Amino acid sequence: MIVMKFGGTSIADAAAIRRTISIITRKMQSKPVVVVSACANVTNLLGQVVELTEAGDKAGSEEIILSLKDRHKMIVDELSLGIAVKRPTPDTTDIYNAIEKICNSLWTLSKAHLGGQIPDADKAYMMSLGEYLSSDIVCFMMNALGLKTMLVDARHFMITSPNYMCATANAAEVSKRANSVISKAFKTADAVITQGFVGVTIEGDPTVMGRGSSDYSASLLGMVLDADRVEIWTDVDGIRTADPNLVSNTRGIGKLSYEEAAELARFGAKVIHPLSIEPAASKNIPIYVLNSMNADAEGTVVQGGASIPDGVKSISYNENIRVVNIYSPKMINTTGFLTKIFAVFEKHGVSVDMISTSEASVSVTVDATAPVDAVSADLAKYGNITVDRDKSQVSIIGKNIIGVKGAVAAVFEAVNDSKIYMMSQGSSFLNLSIVIDRPEIANVVRKLHKVFFENGD
Ligand code: ADP
Ligand code: ASP
Ligand code: MG
Repeated sequence: MIVMKFGGTSIADAAAIRRTISIITRKMQSKPVVVVSACANVTNLLGQVVELTEAGDKAGSEEIILSLKDRHKMIVDELSLGIAVKRPTPDTTDIYNAIEKICNSLWTLSKAHLGGQIPDADKAYMMSLGEYLSSDIVCFMMNALGLKTMLVDARHFMITSPNYMCATANAAEVSKRANSVISKAFKTADAVITQGFVGVTIEGDPTVMGRGSSDYSASLLGMVLDADRVEIWTDVDGIRTADPNLVSNTRGIGKLSYEEAAELARFGAKVIHPLSIEPAASKNIPIYVLNSMNADAEGTVVQGGASIPDGVKSISYNENIRVVNIYSPKMINTTGFLTKIFAVFEKHGVSVDMISTSEASVSVTVDATAPVDAVSADLAKYGNITVDRDKSQVSIIGKNIIGVKGAVAAVFEAVNDSKIYMMSQGSSFLNLSIVIDRPEIANVVRKLHKVFFENGD
């Protein structure tokens, strides 16, 4: 069995879906379990529906819902036209009805909660509908092409914690249920389709697992099904030496260790979700990152680290972060100070990425979306709090970078015109990170890329 995950751009429109299906077709012998995201940008639009609903903007919400309905029906039309040349035109009644039903349920919830706070379980349900639309369409199209495909609702197996908008999976429950429903599906089908991102509590309430978490869904499924491999199909030729959106001449990375890939993701490389490494790694299942628009390109394999050389592999960044500084002379010669401070971050559910301390101060970085004002208010009893906004974090990532001669000097060289607000080296020697002013980000990432990857070019 293999797990193949297709992100939003891989199913953005009829042409992309056709490419994706031809990639799946080549793997039908391997029992593919296909995990799909929503079509590109659909989850963002669902987020807007949620916001407009709460703001009481009925017309705004309706306009987006109608546009979603049109877009998905248009995809079905184009797909059907494409196959009508060689086969009888497929009956689109069921798929139209399915699209209609999903969009109507969104509209019903939007109207019910207009101008009020939407309960988190309903919000999670609304956010998950993009995956239901896309999985219905891909399944319809595969069957129309004669590929025996069964849709398995992720809510039949993806049991999660009850933090509805950013839930984590209960691996033991997922394993029990996924093995049962998916092996049953393979009794009559040659491929299975399911939704990424989507989960359900043990009581049956809808959840989602956080933005970009379809990769996590795929890796979890790979783990519980003991898959031979997990394939993450996206819009770039694998994991690269930097974000190709920012740096024009990046290089592909053939192999990365699980630890390097997880660090890269944690420190901002959006190409793979930070939680998606550990499940596959726990069973030593290789993760391939591949390009659905260039299926024959080599891509990247993420695997156990023994054969992976030391050295800087990639540069990642978080463009918008904040630095929270706690200055407290009381900290000098006392114990337990950091515990108290971290308890505050924990209380607000804020994860801390970088940390540096001196005798009388602690600085930490947090995502720009974190509720820093509430955190600062609670921290005020421990010292003087300042928050630096509009900052970016840049990290060089690689196995044992401590052994890379001149790495620190090269980082300083690349940023010698910029202010460095914080610097830290991860204790596992997998990353060296700095915090700079946000407007400098593109410039600094490009300079670092030049220093580490463009020598002699
Ligand atoms: P999907 O919708 O398929 O999940 P994402 O947009 O989440 O795709 O991830 C792919 C994007 O990740 C790429 O388009 C690229 O801009 C970005 N990215 C960031 N860092 C890297 C990197 N080091 N290598 C490749 N892509 C990267
Ligand atoms: N559709 C979801 C999102 O946009 C999940 C994913 O794409 O992985 O966040
Ligand atoms: Mg993604």
